[in-house]
Amino acid sequence: MVTNDKDILLKDIKPVEPVVTPRPPSDKRKLSPSSIITYRSCPRQFYYRYIMRLPTILNIHLIKGTVVHAVFETLFNKKTFYKKDLEGESLKLFEKLWGREKEKLSTLTLDPVELAIHKNDCVNMVNSYVNKIRIDMKMLMELGKAKNEGHAYMLVRPQFKEMYLHDTELQLHGYIDRVHTDWDGQTTIGDYKTSNRYGLGIKDDYELQCGLYALLYNRVKHLNADWTSIIFLRYGTEVMTRVTPTTIKYALEAVKEVRDKTDATIEKEDYPMKESKLCKWCNYYDRCAGLRETEDDIRQKKAIEELTAQKGKDKLAQTKIPDKG
Ligand code: SF4
Repeated sequence: MVTNDKDILLKDIKPVEPVVTPRPPSDKRKLSPSSIITYRSCPRQFYYRYIMRLPTILNIHLIKGTVVHAVFETLFNKKTFYKKDLEGESLKLFEKLWGREKEKLSTLTLDPVELAIHKNDCVNMVNSYVNKIRIDMKMLMELGKAKNEGHAYMLVRPQFKEMYLHDTELQLHGYIDRVHTDWDGQTTIGDYKTSNRYGLGIKDDYELQCGLYALLYNRVKHLNADWTSIIFLRYGTEVMTRVTPTTIKYALEAVKEVRDKTDATIEKEDYPMKESKLCKWCNYYDRCAGLRETEDDIRQKKAIEELTAQKGKDKLAQTKIPDKG
């Protein structure tokens, strides 16, 4: 078979899309609260993120969330921190953990003023939540529920840092930010949020997320949680929802729905786009808008032209008769 130049050149260009390899039928896809919520909000986003496994683009909000989570995880892991200056210690810890992200932050090309605003926002979140801890401790002591400061701190301090749960039968797994058993034996499963939501109530997504955590807790630990809570760090507020059999049933139905749909196919067309006001924040906006393909086409054309030109030059150099001088 005669191979023309174009065939060779196209072969040399790396494919722009990762290859999607089907999993054997026995190998069930592992689902998580995040992947289930992603599927529910936009199946195409699920396809790009969990089937094609396209990398998530780093942004300032991801870094802020990671640092603030890490501050509280480390802080609450130390039982005796109430004896120290809780406020001062949490800020010291924040500075240390923020500093560790220096390299990643430098890749974001934010101007120094913008970066300072984001950093200050994190400081406010840390202060706000520590403040809430202080108020809760004070209330517990005033109400006689806690004997002293140390006792109060032990009551308000989350008893677990992140708890990893994996249900092998449902192939559902996830990390719970906080599991807390109260002085009166009530267990609350909590999740920290750094979002700027304000006001009463929680989004449907958060409600489903909490339900999925309660389901995991029930199936893996064989325990029923009493409450789920979303802790909005920015405002130091907490929204609690009672866990009922309906909560668990709702979560189970969501797992089943996403399992059935995503185990059946890995074809892109089976994961429709669900456009919303959130698209503008989505990692895959360029792909859905067709901009990515256009850019890839342009790049591919350019690469072919460059390679063709180079090949022409090489041929010319080979056929050139050497100068005998
Ligand atoms: S841009 Fe919109 S439609 Fe496309 S994947 Fe993201 S959320 Fe879905």
